[in-house]
Amino acid sequence: MNIDNLMNDLEKKHPGEAEYLQAVREVMESIEDVITDNPQFNAAGIIERLIEPDRVLIFKIPWVGDDGEVNVNLGFRVQFNNAIGPYKGGLRFHPSVNLSILKFLGFEQIFKNALTTLPMGGAKGGSDFDPKGKSDAEIMRFCQGFMLELWKLIGPETDVPAGDIGVGGKEIGYLYGMYKKLAREHTGVLTGKGINWGGSLIRPEATGFGAVYFAQEMLATKGENFQGKRVCLSGFGNVAWGAARKIQELGGKVLTLSGPDGYIYDPEGVSGEKIEYMLELRASNQDIVQPYAEEFPGAKFHAGKHPWEVPCDVAIPCATQNELNEEDAGNLVSNGCFCVAEGANMPSTPEAIEVFLENKVLFGPGKAVNAGGVATSGLEMSQNAMKLNWPEEEVDTRLHQIMKNIHEACVKHGTEAGGFVNYVKGANIAGFLKVANVMLDQGVL
Ligand code: NDP
Repeated sequence: MNIDNLMNDLEKKHPGEAEYLQAVREVMESIEDVITDNPQFNAAGIIERLIEPDRVLIFKIPWVGDDGEVNVNLGFRVQFNNAIGPYKGGLRFHPSVNLSILKFLGFEQIFKNALTTLPMGGAKGGSDFDPKGKSDAEIMRFCQGFMLELWKLIGPETDVPAGDIGVGGKEIGYLYGMYKKLAREHTGVLTGKGINWGGSLIRPEATGFGAVYFAQEMLATKGENFQGKRVCLSGFGNVAWGAARKIQELGGKVLTLSGPDGYIYDPEGVSGEKIEYMLELRASNQDIVQPYAEEFPGAKFHAGKHPWEVPCDVAIPCATQNELNEEDAGNLVSNGCFCVAEGANMPSTPEAIEVFLENKVLFGPGKAVNAGGVATSGLEMSQNAMKLNWPEEEVDTRLHQIMKNIHEACVKHGTEAGGFVNYVKGANIAGFLKVANVMLDQGVL
C-alpha cells in the first residue's frame, strides 16, 4: 500500500476535509505492515471500501425561535461501516460541526466499536445547531425537527445514535420522544436514555470512568497507580466529570479543568463538591469555566491558555479534537508527565503524538481510551433487548473488564522490539483486523 498515493486520491475526492483525512492517514500509517503481510485484504479492496462511508444523509432543520424568527441548521448522519453490528455512534450539536468532522468521528468509531468486542458498527451524526443559550423549548423544537428527518434511517437493529458534545440526557429525551411518536414503537433506538425509560446505570459516567480504567492499566505496566498522582484534565463536560470522579476515588489529584476560554488551576485538587459544581456550570449553559475560580478561592483562572503547562504525572484531555499541540506536548514531557490518555476524540495533533512517542510517554489514543462510553451504550442495547436493567455494580464490572481487554489488545498488537507499547498502533491494528476479517467473510458489498 502506498499511503501517499492513497491519501492524494482521497484528498482529490474530498478536498478540504482536513479532520477526516488526518484520521484516515493515522490509521493507514499504523496498519501499513499488516496490509503488506496480508495480501488478501488488498485483493478484496478492504482499504478502499473501509475509508469511504456506506452512506451520508445531509438535511436541513428549520425551526422557530422563542422570538418568532425562523432558523435553519444543517443535520448529518454518516453511516460508515456495519460489518460487525448495527451502525452506532453519537450525535454532536456544536457550531463547528461539518461533514469532515463527522466523517473523522465516524471513521474512528468503526475501530473503537470493534475494540469493545461488542457487535456495533461505526457511525456519527449531528448538527451545527448550538444548544448554548437556547431555551428548553427551542432545544425541544430543534430536536423534534432533527428527528423528523433522521427517523427513517435509524432503528434498534439498524443504527443506534447516542449523545456527544452538546447532546446529553435532555436532548436524547426530546429526540427519543419524537422517534417514538413517528415510528410508533418504544425500542432501544438511542442510547444514553433516562434511567426510567430504558437507560443504563453508569452510562453518564462511563466514558470518564473507562478512560481512567484504561490509564490505570497503562500505569500498571510501569508498576504505578493513581495514588498521589497529579492529573491535568481539559474540558469540564461529561467526560471530564466522570474522569474527575474516578481519579479522586483512586487517590489521584485533579489539578486542572478547561473551557474554550482558558483553564482553571486548582492546587488543592478538584474533588467532592467541586466536581458537582462542574455539573452546575454545565447546566448554567454558560460557555466559560471561569466562575469556578470565583466559587473556590485558591483556584486560579488562566485566560486563553491550555492546561498542559501545569506540571503533572498524568494528562487526560477530555475536551475536543486538536486541543493539544506540539508545544503543549513538549511542555508536558519537560515537566515530567509520563502518561497521556485521550478522553476526547483525537485531542492531540499528529505533531504532539510524535513528541509523546519519541519520548516514550505512555500514550493512549482516544479510540481505545474513551471506548468505555460506547461500550456502555452497547450494554444499554443488551439490557434493552432483554428488557432488563442491570444493577450499577454489574454494569461497572463489565465496563472495567472491557477496558482491561482493550488494553490487552493494544499491548498484544502494539508492543515494539524494545518492549515499548505503541498504543496508537496497537489500537488501530486490533480494531482493523477485526473489521477487515469480517468484511472478508461477508463478501464485496
Ligand atoms: P461536553 O460537551 O459535555 O464537554 C466538552 C467540554 O470541552 C466542554 O466543557 C467544552 O466547553 C469544552 N471545550 C470545547 N472546546 C474546547 C476547547 N477548544 N478547549 C477547551 N475546552 C473546550 O462533551 P463530552 O464530555 O461528551 O465530550 C468531550 C470529548 O469526548 C469529545 O471529543 C467527544 O467526542 C468525546 N467522547 C465523548 C463520549 C461521551 O460519552 N460523551 C464518548 C467518547 C468520546 P464548552 O461547552 O464551553 O464549549
